[in-house]
Amino acid sequence: MKSLAIFGATGSIGSSTLDLVRKEPDSYRVSILTAHSNVSAMQRLAQEFKPDLLVMSDCSAANQLERLMPTVPILSGADGLRSAAKEPYDLMIAGIVGFAGLAPTYQAISLGRSVALANKEALVCAGDLILSKAEETGALLLPVDSEHNAIFQCWEHHNREQIKSVQLTASGGPFRGWTAEQLSAASIDEALRHPNWNMGPKVTLDSATLMNKGLEMIEARWLFDLRPEQLEVVVHPQSIVHSCVTYSDGSTIAQMGQPDMRTPISYCLAYPNRAQVGGDILSLSTLTDLTFEKPDETVFPALKLARKVMAADDSSQSLALNAVNEVLSEAVLARQIAFGKLIPILSRIMDTIELNRADSIEARYALDSEIRAKSRELLDKWAR
Ligand code: NAD
Ligand code: MG
Repeated sequence: MKSLAIFGATGSIGSSTLDLVRKEPDSYRVSILTAHSNVSAMQRLAQEFKPDLLVMSDCSAANQLERLMPTVPILSGADGLRSAAKEPYDLMIAGIVGFAGLAPTYQAISLGRSVALANKEALVCAGDLILSKAEETGALLLPVDSEHNAIFQCWEHHNREQIKSVQLTASGGPFRGWTAEQLSAASIDEALRHPNWNMGPKVTLDSATLMNKGLEMIEARWLFDLRPEQLEVVVHPQSIVHSCVTYSDGSTIAQMGQPDMRTPISYCLAYPNRAQVGGDILSLSTLTDLTFEKPDETVFPALKLARKVMAADDSSQSLALNAVNEVLSEAVLARQIAFGKLIPILSRIMDTIELNRADSIEARYALDSEIRAKSRELLDKWAR
């Protein structure tokens, strides 16, 4: 029986993971659950799964939960997340959204633990440090993100030198085929209506701007030690082919499945075996067509922005892209700025801020705070 530490248990990835635990109660035990501020959801999960430890990263939510569940050990705040990462478990599910997920993930990797990583922002901000730390400690890093999980499944380690390129597929989001003019007038409600995937609000918004695919290129670069020019993005609106690896002999190997995160999560939970249950099974004969096209980088400049930070070969640049994107996404989700302003303001902030290299993990934490403060200041000035 594997014990699981589910970071971000109340989110979309957390819920899909717990759904799999419910289906295979003899295979998995929940030892740790973390959430940010949703006290009632956490209480329900704690009653159902009876973990050894809970973390509420929002301190006032932790106080509320302590009053409701006085006999359960509860930690709080960002320190609580880091301490929980040091506790015993067989596999961490890193399902926190955003930069907040980096510290517990880095902690787990530093201790040589196994991590199923959904939190792509951790790799965007510190993929170089995480991968070199994993090599040093022997930590196992399994990709949950569907594209990266697909690449992992198609990857032949013994033929690494013959890997020519990888194709990351993208659904294209709700605005596929729109013009730049239409996109600038799109609403947040339209942006949050993803055609294929049911996910948390931030990643859904990132999918509408295609920033999600930009972040995923950076994620893939570190996970698979690829050169930026080996990364291709292909729009595939049906979200059945989750990504491909192309070899120099002309073979392109794809992984397919329903757009259902339970499949890649289940793969990580059972690794190196295959689980008895996961997502819904694909029926090929019911698929009428699978189409592939090039993304329009003029309408969706997020892809160009991601390529630009990758070319700089300095992770401070991709950390900055992520921090500015998180600040602006929060403002769009809180309806403080229009959806159509997100990428134009983001590009302007990226052109304005000056960055110093930040080579240690502590320097990355400091740089993230600095860039967030600067972005909020510029946003205030320009959005007025
Ligand atoms: P979500 O918004 O549904 O859930 C986020 C979880 O993180 C919640 O449990 C929340 O309590 C917690 N959280 C939020 N802010 C926090 C903070 N400041 N400190 C600590 N915890 C915090 O998000 P999601 O869709 O489950 O996505 C989680 C991660 O997985 C993201 O990085 C996303 O890009 C990635 N991902 C998600 C999907 C998906 O299908 N949902 C697919 C691929 C990758
Ligand atoms: Mg993905």
